[in-house]
Amino acid sequence: MGPAELAALMHDWREKPFRVKQLQRWLWREPAGDFDRLTDLPQALRRKLAEHFHLKCWMPVKEQTSSDGTRKFLFQLDDGNAIETVLIPERDHSTLCLSTQVGCRMGCAFCRTARIGFKRNLTAGEMLHQILHARRVSPAELPLTNLVFMGMGEPLDNYDHLRAALGVIFDTAAFGFGHRRVTVSTVGPPDMIRRLGQDTKAALAVSMTAAEDELRSRLMPVNRRHPLADLKAALQDYPLVRGRRITIEYVLLAGVNDSPAHVKALIKFLHGLKVKINLIPFNPAPDVPFHRPEPAVVELFQEKLHAARFTVMIRRSMGADVSAACGQLAADRLEP
Ligand code: SF4
Repeated sequence: MGPAELAALMHDWREKPFRVKQLQRWLWREPAGDFDRLTDLPQALRRKLAEHFHLKCWMPVKEQTSSDGTRKFLFQLDDGNAIETVLIPERDHSTLCLSTQVGCRMGCAFCRTARIGFKRNLTAGEMLHQILHARRVSPAELPLTNLVFMGMGEPLDNYDHLRAALGVIFDTAAFGFGHRRVTVSTVGPPDMIRRLGQDTKAALAVSMTAAEDELRSRLMPVNRRHPLADLKAALQDYPLVRGRRITIEYVLLAGVNDSPAHVKALIKFLHGLKVKINLIPFNPAPDVPFHRPEPAVVELFQEKLHAARFTVMIRRSMGADVSAACGQLAADRLEP
């Protein structure tokens, strides 16, 4: 339950409004596991909660660890569906890549999640359980401080649940993550990008992968309904706090979108926007008919963007040996 549902419940049960904050803490900040441990609540309320609800704790049905320390968890949901979540160790903290849907309906040609189609949206609780588990298993020296909504699914296609989850994520009585440390990654559509900007202070990342309409429409079907001009207008309108920029993700596909002409189109599209660019050399995946460009091609692409005065990073792909890298999630290995 998010804060709104808890508030409604406490209201229905004629409890004081401050009970919501207490419950939030026990649910997300210091998960109790048992209603008897909610010691600052009256006994009668604890009993009533235990009669109506249960506190559960997710355990993955499978975990794989990459040679670089990235851990991929496969969770089976109550209805039998499965999702994957990826915990990435960084220098002094951990970052969690969360899923928001079982599958995805966006159909990006270079993404393995698209191959399984769309099954259903995750609830806010199912998103938050991924965080609870990751926080529990993160080593003390690499605490979980950063979240990226870049796992299975398009977050803005499940907006109401995403927004409810973000409410709990930012609430200092619950998880209390900093706004700068939570990034929502999207392919669009533009009107939903605008809503995200109005409703939350989450950082925004946008998947481009091509800066010409014909090519982007081929690689990312969302572009057929919402062409690049609409996307650019939404990015221009996106409210940014001082010093912050939108992250542009560009998956480099050998021979498809990695030529000097493609970088020129990208520079033209990004002109006037406050952005930083992540170049992601394609991570090969079964059944996905693309290849990774040679390192020299990637470096040349980066140099041209640098020369146009953009901040550009080449994303190190973590977890590729256990299919945990960008575009490789498919939750298709339920066997132990
Ligand atoms: S890249 Fe993201 S939006 Fe596109 S199909 Fe994959 S999960 Fe969906």
